[in-house]
Amino acid sequence: MTAHDFSYDFIGEILFSQEEIERRVQQLGNTITHDYRGSEKLLLLGLLRGSVMFITDLMRKVQLPLTMDFMSVSSYAGAESSGFIRIDSDHKTNIAGWDVILIDDIVDTGYTIATIRKLLLDRKPRSLKVCALLDKVERRKVDIPIDYCGFQMPDYFVVGYGLDIDEKGRNLPYIASVDLDKYHKIYG
Ligand code: 5GP
Ligand code: MG
Ligand code: MG
Repeated sequence: MTAHDFSYDFIGEILFSQEEIERRVQQLGNTITHDYRGSEKLLLLGLLRGSVMFITDLMRKVQLPLTMDFMSVSSYAGAESSGFIRIDSDHKTNIAGWDVILIDDIVDTGYTIATIRKLLLDRKPRSLKVCALLDKVERRKVDIPIDYCGFQMPDYFVVGYGLDIDEKGRNLPYIASVDLDKYHKIYG
């Protein structure tokens, strides 16, 4: 078996291939390079852990000096965002005066981004924009701006390219739906 053939037995269908993702990330990098030309304090601020693959690919496509930082956040209750977001670890950069791009893997209800955005704005960045690889538009509960969006997608639970289900699936190079029946049969 080559590394390329590896998958998980709960994978449904591939929604975005490795090639599609690469192409889209390159385009986003080009746009950000264009939009932030001249910025002396550009910070890509990723939300751990789902955005790791995305941010490390994206930063290589941004042809500008920049800094990378992370925050780790979680929802208080359940798998679905509750609107109560806990900061597990905060970023290190003092973002006052910085051009910050908040980067997440996927926007679902929007509660996570809405909460973190508000918190970051209190810290007085020069500018703050949001970049998400995936957007489940129809699931939105709070209105938030997504300034840079990779792909809009329907309401499937997806893994791969950094995204997980109970920490599994992050290493897939593509984004695929989870066959939840299969998953629960295997893992309960
Ligand atoms: P929101 O606060 O927008 O409802 O939730 C966003 C977070 O929920 C994402 O950062 C991600 O951690 C998680 N999430 C939402 N939908 C999915 C999905 O389809 N797959 C995975 N792996 N995580 C998801
Ligand atoms: Mg997340
Ligand atoms: Mg997760």
